[in-house]
Amino acid sequence: MPVKARTVLVLLLWSWTLACGQSKSPARPSILLVTLDTTRADSIGPDAAKISTPAFDRVAARGLRFRNAYAAVPETLPSHTTLMTGLYPAGHGIHQNGRTLDPAFPTIAEKLHGAGYRTAAFVSAFVLARQFGLARGFDLYDDRMPAGQSERTARETTDAAIAELKSTSAQPRFVWVHYYDPHYPYAPPEPYRTKYAASPYLGEIASMDHELGRLLDAWAATVGNDSGVVLVADHGEGLGDHGEARHGTLLYQSTMHVPLVIEGPGVNAGVSDDAVSTRQVFYTILDWARLGGEQSLRRAGDGLRTRDLGQRSTDAGPVLGEAMKPFLDYGWQPQVMAIAEVSDCSAGLQVCPRKAIEAGRLEVYDLASDPAEAHDLGSGANLPAAMRKGVGDYPLPSTEAGRAPDTLDADARARLASLGYISAGAAPVVRKDAPRPADMVGLLPIIEEASGLFVAGEYRQAIPLFEKIRAADPGNLDATLRLAVSQSLTGHRAEADERFAEAKRLAPDSPDVDVYRGLHYARYGDIARAEPLLQQALTRFPDRATVIEALADLREKQKRFAEAVALRQKLYSLQPPTGAQLAHLGSLAMDAENTAAAIDAFTKARALQGPAFTHDLDLGVLYMDERRFADARDALDRVPAPNPNYPMALFKRAEVAVLLHEPDARQRLELAKRKADAVTRPLIEADRLFK
Ligand SMILES: [Zn+2]
Repeated sequence: MPVKARTVLVLLLWSWTLACGQSKSPARPSILLVTLDTTRADSIGPDAAKISTPAFDRVAARGLRFRNAYAAVPETLPSHTTLMTGLYPAGHGIHQNGRTLDPAFPTIAEKLHGAGYRTAAFVSAFVLARQFGLARGFDLYDDRMPAGQSERTARETTDAAIAELKSTSAQPRFVWVHYYDPHYPYAPPEPYRTKYAASPYLGEIASMDHELGRLLDAWAATVGNDSGVVLVADHGEGLGDHGEARHGTLLYQSTMHVPLVIEGPGVNAGVSDDAVSTRQVFYTILDWARLGGEQSLRRAGDGLRTRDLGQRSTDAGPVLGEAMKPFLDYGWQPQVMAIAEVSDCSAGLQVCPRKAIEAGRLEVYDLASDPAEAHDLGSGANLPAAMRKGVGDYPLPSTEAGRAPDTLDADARARLASLGYISAGAAPVVRKDAPRPADMVGLLPIIEEASGLFVAGEYRQAIPLFEKIRAADPGNLDATLRLAVSQSLTGHRAEADERFAEAKRLAPDSPDVDVYRGLHYARYGDIARAEPLLQQALTRFPDRATVIEALADLREKQKRFAEAVALRQKLYSLQPPTGAQLAHLGSLAMDAENTAAAIDAFTKARALQGPAFTHDLDLGVLYMDERRFADARDALDRVPAPNPNYPMALFKRAEVAVLLHEPDARQRLELAKRKADAVTRPLIEADRLFK
């Protein structure tokens, strides 16, 4: 007989009340949260076939294991954002990777830090790097990846976490460790590669479990037994179920049903079959830290009532989930799921979980008798009103959903792409006749290949694939927009014009379409059309690097140098410039007659470029303009003899020698005269300094 989680809730509340009633409350417990990326519920733990995961099993034996736990969204950043905020994506606004959590939403780390916890996080993939908003509240946020890589192994992450655990702390600890190994591609290290040769995916999980064991040992050695531990996956993996190889596209059990174990204060060992959402991890940790019941808990009222862990889903509304990526990227049907226990299930049990997926039409599954979701009971099936309401009322992402990744530079995009995450960032268009994602899985490999080529800059090869996607799905905004950009970048201006017009028809209000159209016109020197689009885009996305850069180029072409300088300065405050870019900015600032900006840019360029820096003459002249003669002398002395500007440098250097009253001023003038060319000769003749 499984321990009913209701008991846990009562215990938690009881111990909380006790603590509050005492004049001196005991120390808050240390808490360890381990998130297992891409780990299916059926691939870890005591019930998993074909794999042994002793470390996970150890926690499961001591703690409470949920056999019906569900991710809120089958993608890494949004799912982790749910764990950290207790909100569904509709609440926190992060539906996709590559977005940044709005600072208005408090995270569990901030709350614990505020309560005196020492907080540390160790993440294993760039998709959770600090720039995406989850680092808030952590004293230490370790998102270091090996050079040139976008992920690290569980071994590397565990080593980093153990190093932190070895430091002494009088404060209670909150430690979050994220493992990424089971994410595609599946390449487990030995001995797991050999042992799980038939399923490298399971090999990755077994290897990760080994590292989890090391982490748990170090944790026990550091904080002892009176602590809270949560093991949970952010989502599962399709592995071909329902035609989905990976995750993020569909809402079936393979990616939404996840492992979840909690062990800690007030938790009795056992198994629960209650349907729960991983977002309840947030409230569990708050409970352990005795921070529950704060006003911030009620903030979670995103129209979807908060529930304490263990409360039965039938009492408090269904568990919800969403997969909006196909909607946001391709304009396919938005997908929402609801899971709750019903009493008329076919298995002859008293209660069993029923699942509804709304994606253009309603699918209903009896999870107890049909865990593979092979038999759709259809929209006519008996469904509690709360479930219908749950999927029906779930808010769709708006065009402004999630803060746009304004500062996501080319490097960040490339790193996300290297992990398999690519997003056009286009605004969603709601189409009544839009395809259902479940019917479109056949197109996914082509979309993936085309997107990969696009991000790698292989536009010529990507074009036929985008055309293929559009043939199957003419309303696909992402494919239309990327095809237009590919055509624009490969010199097919007329075709690109047509595709952009189509994209505009598909998404008339999409700022992204206007941005890319503006960039296209600018590329072909059509300033009249580019200028208003880029200006509007800049007003709307003041920090979007591509827009700032395109407008800076445009201003330069128009010889509006002061504006070009200001735009480039802004751009480089958002993403670090190269030496060559700074040297270009210096020249622009000279064109704008902005001496201070030119000196600043050239000085920084020189520091980055070293011997490759070629603007010492410019710098010397600028310093003279500022009457910084000693700096001018040093800069001019650096102009090498083979440089075509050498005669000019000698002339200017002679001037500086006079101005600084150097004893060899006369010899320098003689040298300048001897080496003079057609440009400097008349200048030297006319120069009053030399009289
Ligand atoms: Zn993930």
